[in-house]
Amino acid sequence: MVSRVIPVETFDLVIFGGTGDLARRKILPGLFRRFCAGQMEDGARIIGAARSDLDTAAYREMVREAVIEFGRGGTCDIGTMQGFLDTLHYVRVDARGEQGWQSLADMMLPDRVRAFYFSVGPGLFGDLAKRLHQYGMADASCRIVVEKPFGRDLQSARDLNAVLAQHFDETQIYRIDHYLGKETVQNLMVVRFGNMLFEPLWNSQYVDHIQITVAETVGVGGRGEYYDRSGAMRDMLQNHLMQLLCLIAMEPPAKFDPDAVRDEKLKVIRALGHIAPEEIVRGQYMKDGENGSYLEDANNPRSTTESFVALKAHISNWRWAGTPFYLRTGKRLKARTSEIAVVFKDAPHSIFGAKAGRHRNILTIRLQPNEGMELGVTIKEPGPGGMRLLDVPLDMSFAEALGEDSAEIPDAYERLIMDVIRGNQTLFMRGDEVEAAWKWTDPIIAAWEDRGDQPIPYETGSSGPDDALMLMHRDGRRWREIMI
Ligand code: NAP
Repeated sequence: MVSRVIPVETFDLVIFGGTGDLARRKILPGLFRRFCAGQMEDGARIIGAARSDLDTAAYREMVREAVIEFGRGGTCDIGTMQGFLDTLHYVRVDARGEQGWQSLADMMLPDRVRAFYFSVGPGLFGDLAKRLHQYGMADASCRIVVEKPFGRDLQSARDLNAVLAQHFDETQIYRIDHYLGKETVQNLMVVRFGNMLFEPLWNSQYVDHIQITVAETVGVGGRGEYYDRSGAMRDMLQNHLMQLLCLIAMEPPAKFDPDAVRDEKLKVIRALGHIAPEEIVRGQYMKDGENGSYLEDANNPRSTTESFVALKAHISNWRWAGTPFYLRTGKRLKARTSEIAVVFKDAPHSIFGAKAGRHRNILTIRLQPNEGMELGVTIKEPGPGGMRLLDVPLDMSFAEALGEDSAEIPDAYERLIMDVIRGNQTLFMRGDEVEAAWKWTDPIIAAWEDRGDQPIPYETGSSGPDDALMLMHRDGRRWREIMI
């Protein structure tokens, strides 16, 4: 199965922070793969912009090394590297001063898509937006891409939105949540709205509960001090898990169009109910051999920031009243895995008797590793041993289904950057969505702070604190194993 690659319009993409970690790890290797796939038209240019004292030749060398180190292979021909490097340019620019801005402005070419990627800390967004205007680069058709974190609470998110809105229309602003760029996440929408099979069952009458897990094995490592100001709730749940929840729970949009999809997601966030303190568990990982504890990694012995959070959310609308959504995410857990599990209710009556046991259909959407979907169905255990029932998976692993072409599945950043060039905002967060998500999260965090809530220590390699297991046991349910 060969996927068709349609080249995007010729573009100039300026990456502010073009020397940074994100640019080297994700953005530039992603662009290289799109170049190899033939998606970049001749004449497209990528312009790195940062303060470091580099020229274009030195920047090309830096990018070549980054692509070799962080590119994920596939069918990219390393021999085409030179062609890619030729698209690269570098300008020394200081977001906070005047240095380099006129040179950058002089480089801009008319009659092509113009996009500016703000791959810098959010403290620089305002400066960049202002100077892009001041130097005449921000015409009405240009686009800006902004990274997470988009604020640390409702007020700071509003402030950021206001700063950007001074210079750009909402239709020009692309707020990245790379979870939305994952193939499976988009497939979730196709499975829901492209098949007759699931949507009639997609409600509280048939769905017992939904679990969303994003588990990491790494600790906070070198990001300890940054992470300590944020925590799992702000760093992961408010954005990534919330976006997954929206796609699972939203009503069918009238069409697959950016505002139609985002309107429906927004309604889900606004329907999220209050969460009681006993419906949330926070944790901090403990020391494990050579690996430091969270408190050591954060370099803050009195930190009350959580490296794990689990909660039970309720969506107060007709479709979902009575169906809880259990969300959890954390670091230093058993395995690196992200999945959504839609657990359907038991059949209303078992004609096979009590001995046949309890069987449930579970639709599992795996985001990583091995992106794919699996539907658990109940069948008869083969053989003459009577009517014994067995759960087996109807498995759709993309890697298996697509064979060698699975190497061609673009990663989230590749897809999202190409969507920016195409001018398609569907998979990007709108300003009001981000604000609504903070509006729901803020009181939860404020309540922890007010009562001096202490996270519960948990062991490295575990599934988080036992209290998180209890969160579901109390309801007669249990989490799925965290495993690859
Ligand atoms: P980083 O490694 O610290 O890079 C920051 C970049 O900004 C560097 O290229 C730096 O280059 C440039 N910069 C800093 N001050 C500047 C100024 N005054 N004018 C112009 N350029 C300036 O950070 P990062 O990890 O790449 O992260 C960038 C953004 O993406 C942050 O908002 C981060 O939260 C977000 N993000 C990162 C990741 C990730 O995996 N790294 C993931 C998700 C989101 P010079 O020092 O040469 O100026």
